[in-house]
Amino acid sequence: MPNKLVAGNWKMHGSLAANAALLGELASGGDLGVACAVCVPYPYLGQARDRLDGTAIALGAQDVSEFGEGAYTGEVSAGMLAEFGCRYAIVGHSERRALFAEDDATVGRKAAAALAARLVPIVCVGETLAERESGETMAVIRRQLDAVAGVLGDEVLGSVVFAYEPVWAIGTGRSASAGQVGEVHGEIRGWLRERCAVADLVPILYGGSVKPGNAAELFAVENVDGGLIGGASLVANDFLAICRAA
Ligand code: PGA
Repeated sequence: MPNKLVAGNWKMHGSLAANAALLGELASGGDLGVACAVCVPYPYLGQARDRLDGTAIALGAQDVSEFGEGAYTGEVSAGMLAEFGCRYAIVGHSERRALFAEDDATVGRKAAAALAARLVPIVCVGETLAERESGETMAVIRRQLDAVAGVLGDEVLGSVVFAYEPVWAIGTGRSASAGQVGEVHGEIRGWLRERCAVADLVPILYGGSVKPGNAAELFAVENVDGGLIGGASLVANDFLAICRAA
C-alpha cells in the first residue's frame, strides 16, 4: 500500500495574522490518521514551522530553485527549505508551468534539486482542457513524467510523490470525475511499474477542486493516494475534513 498524503497548497495567500489563526486551528486538529502537509509561501515558512512544531502536520514549499547556492537573485534553494524544516517541495505546478514558463526539463531539475537536499518533491502533471478534448491527455502526462525520469533516473522515482492535477479542474470548482481520475492514475501507476521496483509504494495524489464534499469519493478511486488541495486548504475545517476523508 502506498503511503497516503494530503498536502495543502496555499498558493500566494496569507498574512501573519490570517496564518496564525489557520495554523492554530490545524494544530489543534488532533490525529488525522494520514500524513498531512501545508505548502506555504516562502516568507511564512518560519511562522508555520514554529506553529506546527510538535504536530503531525509537515511543512512544504510551493516551488524550489533548480540551482544550489549562488548568484541567482530571487531564487530559494532546496537547502534553505530544508533548513526551515520543509519536508516537501511542490514542483511543476501548472501555474508555474503556464505563468512562469517552466518547461518539463526545468521541472525535472527542480525535482532533482529537492531530492539532493533530502526533500520530497511533489511532482505535478496534468493536461489542459484543449489537450483533453483533443485526446492528448495520456501523451501529455507521459511526456511530463518521462522528462522528470530523464533527469532523475528511474532508481530514485521511489522517493518522489506525484500529483495528477488536470489544469481545467484547478480552482474551477469542477473536479475531474472518478472515472477520469482512475484512468490517469492507473496510467501513472503503470508508467511507474515499468521503471521502479517500489512503484506500488509511490503516492499518486489527485488535485483540482477537491472539497470536503467530493474528497471521499475521489480518494476511494484505485491508485489515488491522497490529494493536493488548493482553495480548500485555506479553510481549516475543510482541510481537516479532507485529511480525515483520506
Ligand atoms: P484547487 O487547487 O484545490 O483550488 O483546485 C489545487 C492546486 O492547484 O493544487
